[in-house]
Amino acid sequence: MYLPPIKNPLSVQMLGKCLIRWYRRHRRPLPWRDNPTPYRVWISEIMLQQTQARTVIPYFMRFLERFPDVNELAAAPEREVVELWAGLGYYIRARNLHRAAKLILEKHGEFPRELKAILELPGIGRYTAGAICSLAFNQVQPVVDGNVRRVITRLEGMESGKNDSFFWNRMSEWIPARHPAEFNQAMMELGATVCLPSKPLCSLCPVEEACKARRLGIQDTIPAVRTKHAVQQIQVVILILEAGGKILLTSIRKVAFIPGEWGLPCSRIRSGESGKEAAEKLCCSILGRSLPVKPYVRISHSITYYRIKAHGFFWRGDLGSAELRKGDAFRWADRAGCGRLLTSSLFRKTLLKYGASNVS
Ligand code: SF4
Repeated sequence: MYLPPIKNPLSVQMLGKCLIRWYRRHRRPLPWRDNPTPYRVWISEIMLQQTQARTVIPYFMRFLERFPDVNELAAAPEREVVELWAGLGYYIRARNLHRAAKLILEKHGEFPRELKAILELPGIGRYTAGAICSLAFNQVQPVVDGNVRRVITRLEGMESGKNDSFFWNRMSEWIPARHPAEFNQAMMELGATVCLPSKPLCSLCPVEEACKARRLGIQDTIPAVRTKHAVQQIQVVILILEAGGKILLTSIRKVAFIPGEWGLPCSRIRSGESGKEAAEKLCCSILGRSLPVKPYVRISHSITYYRIKAHGFFWRGDLGSAELRKGDAFRWADRAGCGRLLTSSLFRKTLLKYGASNVS
């Protein structure tokens, strides 16, 4: 299909037309794009934070199957929502979804349509609220995510960084009164599939002729890549305590960045401390006494910028009169089913190795 080139200076009207036409033809078939109700847009946008679309698809399908609407989500126990989130990480998002679902029903009875009301819901910022208003209600509300920032930076050929309000203002100026949802999605889709962070596919771009960066030959160098967070190496000890065929889980977060509601007892190994010493100390903090724990596995795992060396220790036997401290923070789970409750893949890996090891 022939797309008319945009003549410089950039024509806002033509930009919108070209992008929307391109989007209709080239958009990826993603399940949340069919029937974009506010609920479906909301769930998908929250899942897509920090996670790629192809990874999100099966999670989205499962979530919608179990919680097809805001009523079902609000009525579910929080634990079930978090369990279904397992693998997506950043579990605060699942908790906020659940809280927001309850608030929506209490305050509005149905999903609110106004930007202000949507912004008041937990876990929803300016981007997500704008996405819901435009994608679900077709309101003229701009959205700015990382992809949109990159596309604007290149279209405008900006070599120095701009603050957030610059990008929001640009999108407010550019968004057309007709088809605002498609325009927003076209900008995001262009950034996700063509105007890639490195080596943008300019020959496939519908607005190539209007792109300043392309004209100046700087499309590969802007926007400047942000310096990455320094990687941190840490060592942790993970305990599997098994009594009567049940495994002890805890909700106490001694290693704050490991996500999830329920985990295996775990703590950092301090410098100068051995894995065994850390395991015994952890055991004492839970049971008030030490147990003869044995090492059985070492696992390497990454969470964001943490590179973790996990030392797995186990103990299996009869606990007799030993008492758990802070009882509410612990639960015994069947060995066969407790993997389902573990929302961190580090703990799931540790448990899997325990099941697979000859540790008797
Ligand atoms: Fe991005 Fe290239 Fe299109 Fe410019 S021409 S917007 S750099 S893909």
